[in-house]
Amino acid sequence: MPRDTPLREPVTAYVALGANLGDAARTVRDALNALAHTPAVRLVQASSLYRTAPIESSGPDYINAVAEVSTPLTAPALLAALQAIEDAAGRERPYRNAPRTLDLDLLLYGSARIDSPALTVPHPRMMQRAFVLVPLHEIAPGRVTPKALAGVSGQAIQRF
Ligand code: ATP
Ligand code: CA
Ligand code: CA
Repeated sequence: MPRDTPLREPVTAYVALGANLGDAARTVRDALNALAHTPAVRLVQASSLYRTAPIESSGPDYINAVAEVSTPLTAPALLAALQAIEDAAGRERPYRNAPRTLDLDLLLYGSARIDSPALTVPHPRMMQRAFVLVPLHEIAPGRVTPKALAGVSGQAIQRF
């Protein structure tokens, strides 16, 4: 490694996974596997799979999970890697909140706050979503306050 290309310290990031078309549980498991095999991404842990009814969306129930990864990639590079996994799963975007084969959202990237047109971190809607906060709390209880969990306690979610 030449000395002018310093290694970046790995950052701990959290990724939300969701699917509601076809064999959604299989899709989420395959996506976790794809994350684990993404160059420069280490899959540290994954939550259980959860089942939730669509909220701002339509179609069958969702299968959701959250993964913790450790990576030296920048946040935009990590997002690009997530989008490549979505694309490989056949994701299309016919309209906003359409049913989808696979959705991967970057929830947290270390303690970074990012506000660019293509990327907002922490994910701006994560605090309103039980399907994000419950699995995130399972693997990273320190990142979800009791108050935040209480705020989404009215949303039905069950372990798959
Ligand atoms: P929501 O963001 O409400 O969960 P969505 O996941 O259905 O909605 P998409 O159509 O998957 O939205 O993504 C729209 C755009 O959101 C993406 O092209 C991406 O550039 C942008 N985006 C901004 N911040 C993030 C983030 N933290 N994680 C993933 N995508 C993000
Ligand atoms: Ca999403
Ligand atoms: Ca998304």
